[in-house]
Amino acid sequence: MPEILKAPTGGARDTGTDASVAERVSTIISDIRARGDEAVREYSERFDRWSPESFRLSEEEVERIVAGVPDQVLDDIRFVQDQVRGFARHQRDALADVEVETLPGVHLGHRHVPVAAAGAYVPGGRYPLTASAHMTIVTAKVAGVPRVAACTPPIRGEVPAATVAAMHLAGADEIYLLGGVQAMAALAVGTESLPRVDLIAGPGNAYVAEAKRQLFGEVGIDLFAGPTEILVVADHTADPFVVAVDLLSQAEHGPDSPAVLVTTSAELGRAVLDHVERLLPGMPTRDFAEPAWRDHGEVVVVDSLDEAYTVADGYASEHVQILTENPRQALDRMTQYGALFLGEGTCVSYGDKVSGTNHVLPTKGAARYTGGLWVGKYLKTVTYQEITDPAASARLGEVCGRAARVELFEGHARSGDVRAAKYAGASLPW
Ligand code: NAD
Repeated sequence: MPEILKAPTGGARDTGTDASVAERVSTIISDIRARGDEAVREYSERFDRWSPESFRLSEEEVERIVAGVPDQVLDDIRFVQDQVRGFARHQRDALADVEVETLPGVHLGHRHVPVAAAGAYVPGGRYPLTASAHMTIVTAKVAGVPRVAACTPPIRGEVPAATVAAMHLAGADEIYLLGGVQAMAALAVGTESLPRVDLIAGPGNAYVAEAKRQLFGEVGIDLFAGPTEILVVADHTADPFVVAVDLLSQAEHGPDSPAVLVTTSAELGRAVLDHVERLLPGMPTRDFAEPAWRDHGEVVVVDSLDEAYTVADGYASEHVQILTENPRQALDRMTQYGALFLGEGTCVSYGDKVSGTNHVLPTKGAARYTGGLWVGKYLKTVTYQEITDPAASARLGEVCGRAARVELFEGHARSGDVRAAKYAGASLPW
């Protein structure tokens, strides 16, 4: 039985939807659907104290903002976008189109076709999440999406200059300073000033994630990428100071971000708890990290690494970091995570900010059924077929006629019958 060294005082991990968030989001969406831009402006004023003449930045405004960003920041943005683009291109190249001849003269195929327009959401309520611009926009462009409309909120009433620069360098076709539910609803249903898109991608807080959930169907979405989570699997060889630093690196995202340690060493677990207590008071982001750790932090001691992998898989956490003697073992043993970080040489922050895998990842257990954002999420896998041998068509027509009649579909059956008759001289049964 696992021993709990620290339990989450905020109760068990919440994998559902908060009813009050759902209700508020639903009201905002309905209002924007009914009143378009006028409602968008009211919600932007209410939640972000932001009501510019136009939410869309003109090319001149973008140029002026980018010109004010320090060169080092721009160089780093370019470096990271190169990493994200490079990995995404490899992933795109691995997605081959398929065409096969399954019976003589029967040709079946599939192709990967990009959506025509994507909305890229770059969060910005608490922090200007510049890196989300690389993840959503660069990836959409590698997938071949012709129109990318990117939205980010102002941050405490200010233009997030580095984020706008990242959106521009990533190749966004339209940039809007608009956040939260109002941005998601405008992208999904379209307003007078923001033509709707076909798919929305990007992470966000509980309101943004819930808006995507409610809008899904009317618009495509990438996945549910809500408040960030980290889970560390560590054995006795891990450095407890590094483990503590890494747990807090994700807790600082917000007070609703879980940080969990599953370890085979009670001694390591206790040392990590001590380090966290020493580190928290000096953290500039303590206001978010401390409540996250108190309410959602957990330290679980297990008997073996096998048990650790099973417990970790049970969480299906967004990020899983493996700090053990043989970290690659987890690749074979674990299946439920958004992204895996193997060994002390890397960390979740590398995935978030620099190394090139996508940081838009499933939360609240969604890793049970999906991975994170990647080029494939912007592509539709569509099929086609062609039958070049009349005899093959006649043969399928006969089977089609019988199979459709089993389902009482006379109309379907007749499409098969006419081909069997035309290509093989069969008599029409009607
Ligand atoms: P955000 O851009 O997601 O949300 C800010 C917006 O929330 C504001 O523009 C405002 O309109 C809206 N809002 C705030 N309070 C509201 C209220 N009471 N009612 C309605 N709307 C309201 O930025 P954020 O808040 O900083 O959150 C970013 C989130 O993204 C964090 O939770 C972080 O963990 C998460 N994240 C997730 C991933 C992932 O892949 N899962 C990656 C990066 C970040």
